[in-house]
Amino acid sequence: MDIETSPPIAFLDLAAQQARIGPGLKTRLDAVLAHGQYILGPEVAELEAGLAAFCGAAHCVGVSSGTDALQIALMAEGIGPGDGVFLPAFTYTATAEVPLLLGATPVFVDVDPRSFQIDPGSLSARITQVQRAEKLRPRAVIGVDLFGQPADWAAIRAIAAQTGLFTLDDCAQSFGAAQDGVRLGRAADATATSFFPSKPLGAYGDGGALFTQSPERAALYRSLRTHGEGTTRYEVLRIGMNGRLDTMQAAVLLAKLEVFEAEIARREAIARIYDAALGDVLATPARVRGAASAWAVYSVLLADAAQRATAQGALKAAGIASAVYYPRALHQQPAYAACHDGVALPVAEGLGERILALPIHPDLTDAQAGRVAAVLRAALSG
Ligand SMILES: *Cc1c(COP(=O)(O)O)cnc(C)c1O
Repeated sequence: MDIETSPPIAFLDLAAQQARIGPGLKTRLDAVLAHGQYILGPEVAELEAGLAAFCGAAHCVGVSSGTDALQIALMAEGIGPGDGVFLPAFTYTATAEVPLLLGATPVFVDVDPRSFQIDPGSLSARITQVQRAEKLRPRAVIGVDLFGQPADWAAIRAIAAQTGLFTLDDCAQSFGAAQDGVRLGRAADATATSFFPSKPLGAYGDGGALFTQSPERAALYRSLRTHGEGTTRYEVLRIGMNGRLDTMQAAVLLAKLEVFEAEIARREAIARIYDAALGDVLATPARVRGAASAWAVYSVLLADAAQRATAQGALKAAGIASAVYYPRALHQQPAYAACHDGVALPVAEGLGERILALPIHPDLTDAQAGRVAAVLRAALSG
């Protein structure tokens, strides 16, 4: 089939996935319709147990979204005004939005130029700067496992321990990833993930989960997700939120959890096709030693903005979807300008004009991945 007449290649194909898991999904949804417990029905507890077992965490609490998971985790620590929360400047807005919603201040940290993950050297330097400025109390670090790869948690934990920081893993893009054979879920004091439909384990609506090894934290998360309730429904112990995971979404996720491991393996196979076909014409994603990615996103780096535009244009002309995560670092966004201390974060500031994400999903065929790579190669050598 020649390139001009090939069918388009989508960024994500949830219809193909739905056809693949069809009968299991239908059985799960029918069960919910039959029992009618739409809020905290039995599927939520079943999913929590399944997710905890999958990643080896002691406790899992299902919540309404990845953003709410981050918020509940910070609320449980009492983080608020005067507190500094360290986080990478190159991430989705939710990571930085949550500390601000609680009255705390995000402190943006630079990222590694090859792995795109939070740079431990920059984290140490930023903590020292905040300590010297004496305006904020360093309280927490949110490490983000960007694009499916684990952040350098050994380094983050060591730095956090020196300063007594609470560690929160924003694992929204990377549930299922592992470091040295250990899945993410217990790399930090708490781990938050998202089931937004385009994440590696996606629901058919919003959803999220929190993981922790601490029974006290897990109990707090359960209370906070239901308006701060105590042991009886109308005992209000603290200010919480409406942050529960829907039973319907839990049912969808239970069906998808059955094929999740195979889907990650499929994403890894596609990543290898891209690595092999493109490694000599552009910078393919760095593979951190001992890390296994969940491949939420496969982002390559082009030489400069002009070459990225060439690549994007060629893919578009061939009917192939691509995306830019993220066009700007967070501290360069209007909403965050006022809370940033003005420190330059050169790596995060330079990635936005060179980065490009290629289609990667479990229903992409080898031939389709090959065609994406061929179109890119032709564009870059033309
Ligand atoms: C998607 C995402 C979130 C937010 O998850 P939602 O479920 O959409 O609220 C938070 N952090 C990162 C890094 C994300 O990619």
